[in-house]
Amino acid sequence: MSKVKSSETVKVVVRCRPLNRKDAAGVTGTPGGRGGIIEMDVDRGQVVLRNPRALPGEPQKTFTFDSVYDASSRQRDLYDETVRPLIHSVLDGFNGTIFAYGQTGTGKTYTMQGEWLEPERRGVIPNAFEHVFTQIARSTADRQYLVRASYLEIYREEIRDLLDPNPPHTLELRESPESGVYVRDLTSCVCKSVKEIQELMNVGNQVRSVGATDMNEHSSRSHTLFLITVECSQTGPDGRQHIRVGRLNLVDLAGSERQAKTGVHGERLKEAAKINLSLSALGNVISALADGRGGHVPYRDSKLTRLLQDSLGGNAKTVMVATLGPAPQHYEETLTTLRYANRTK
Ligand code: ADP
Ligand code: MG
Repeated sequence: MSKVKSSETVKVVVRCRPLNRKDAAGVTGTPGGRGGIIEMDVDRGQVVLRNPRALPGEPQKTFTFDSVYDASSRQRDLYDETVRPLIHSVLDGFNGTIFAYGQTGTGKTYTMQGEWLEPERRGVIPNAFEHVFTQIARSTADRQYLVRASYLEIYREEIRDLLDPNPPHTLELRESPESGVYVRDLTSCVCKSVKEIQELMNVGNQVRSVGATDMNEHSSRSHTLFLITVECSQTGPDGRQHIRVGRLNLVDLAGSERQAKTGVHGERLKEAAKINLSLSALGNVISALADGRGGHVPYRDSKLTRLLQDSLGGNAKTVMVATLGPAPQHYEETLTTLRYANRTK
C-alpha cells in the first residue's frame, strides 16, 4: 500500500475548544496575557503550542495535521469537511470509524454529541444520522435500506450493553467467518428517524449511569461506542437481490489524561492501567495502519481494537479527532495529546 493511499484511510484532525471561565482562573497572571497556549493556522493545518514555562529563545512546537479546527470553528465545519465523506462511504457499503481522543473536559462529547436540541450545536452523531436518513429518503425506489443501532461501553476492559435495560452485564467478543468480530448478544435496534436514534441514546445514557457513583468520573474512564449498520438491498440488472452492508462506529474515548497519579492504589490503579493500555493499543493500531507498509497490526492488544478490527484498515476509513483545551495549566497534557495524534497520522 502506498503512503498516499494510507493517508486517505486515516485522517487526523485537531480541535481546540474556547477558553472557559475555569481555564481563565488559571490564566490570570500568566505572562504574555493572551491567555491560551494554542495558535492555529487553519489554512496550513498547523497547531503551534506555546510552553508557558519556556526558557528565553526556546522554540515553540509546531504540528501539522489533515485539518485543524480552532476555538471559533463550528460543529458544521468539522462535519462537512471531515465527517461527510466518511458517511458517504458507509452508505456505499464500507466501514468507517470516528474517534474523539483527548483529555477530559476538552470537548470529546461536545464534538461527538453536542447539543441535540440546538441545530448549530449538534455534534457528529446527530449530524451523521440526519445525513444518513436524508440520503435514504432521496435514494431510488429500487433500493431498500435498513438502519440498525447499538450502544455500548467498554469499562475496565469489560463490554456492557447500554440498550439492555437490565443491569448492564458483561458481553463477550466472538469471531465468525461470515460476521467477522462481533459482540455476542448485543442489542441492535432498527431505527427509521433521527428522533428514534436520539431516544436510544437517552435510554443508553440512563443505563450507563446505573451503578456509577460518580458519573463524571465514570464517563472519563470508559469508552462509549455508538454502532450503526446500514444495509442496502437492491435488485441488480440480473434480477437478483444484492446486499451491501456498511458499518459506522462513533467512539467517544476515555479521557487521555495520565491516570496513575501518586496516591492511587488497588482497584483504581488497575483501572488506570487498563485505560492507558487501551489508548496506547489504539495508537499502535492506527499508526501501524497509517504507516501503510502492511506490517503487523496489533488488534488483539485491547477490547477496543479487537472489537473494531474489521473497521480499521482495509477499505475502511478512520477519522481521529484530537481535542485540546487552550489553558496553560494543561500544557503537558496538551503536548501529550498532540504527540499521540501526530503519531497516528
Ligand atoms: P469531554 O467529553 O472531552 O470531557 P466535553 O465535551 O464535556 O469534554 O466539554 C467540556 C465543556 O466544554 C462542556 O461544557 C462543553 O459544552 C464545552 N465545549 C467543549 N468544546 C466546545 C466547543 N468547541 N465550543 C463550545 N463549547 C465547548
Ligand atoms: Mg465526555
